[in-house]
Amino acid sequence: MSQVGVKRLVSESFNCAYFKPDPRVFEASSEKHEKLVKFVRKWFEDLRKDIECVEEYELSLGGLRGRADVVCWDGKEVHIVEVKSTQVHRARMQDALQLMLYVYMYSKTKNTSLSSINAYLAYSYRESPYASAYIIKVSVEAAKTLINVVSRLVESYSSIRSGSFEGKGLYVISDLCDICVYDKCPFKALTGVTP
Ligand code: SF4
Repeated sequence: MSQVGVKRLVSESFNCAYFKPDPRVFEASSEKHEKLVKFVRKWFEDLRKDIECVEEYELSLGGLRGRADVVCWDGKEVHIVEVKSTQVHRARMQDALQLMLYVYMYSKTKNTSLSSINAYLAYSYRESPYASAYIIKVSVEAAKTLINVVSRLVESYSSIRSGSFEGKGLYVISDLCDICVYDKCPFKALTGVTP
């Protein structure tokens, strides 16, 4: 069975269909992302002696696959972390959806109740050579609406696989525009973006 990635599912469901990231930004953020993942893993491991963490934890559910950045177990509960190389002021609803997809997939595949899953978003704390993360705990209980949204997304994966999202032709102006290099976009920036 062919599968669709979690990131793609979220991106094609909510982002501009024509977004084309600047490869230079993409490269720099992958390196930063790797460092942040290591920081977050160490942060959890330093919290308690009995905690065990892995990076890039693979999840697969029906037609959906994904990798949670950091997953830790402490004997009783599981901790799932989605790491973003952006700072928290650039947090997006899609980040929480991606995280909740991992929570949903973990809960379904491991037959684990949502109450024993803790979810976190980690953002880059500040621009510096030292990776440091700003970690937010997201209440899975309070995020049940998001879980409903993601479970519907998962149910509709077959329409994604059949390509119905391809070429949907929706341009969406958002914070992604300042790192987008799609030259046929009908919206043209006339001034620079102030960092
Ligand atoms: S610049 Fe245009 S193509 Fe790129 S994300 Fe923004 S609206 Fe979409």
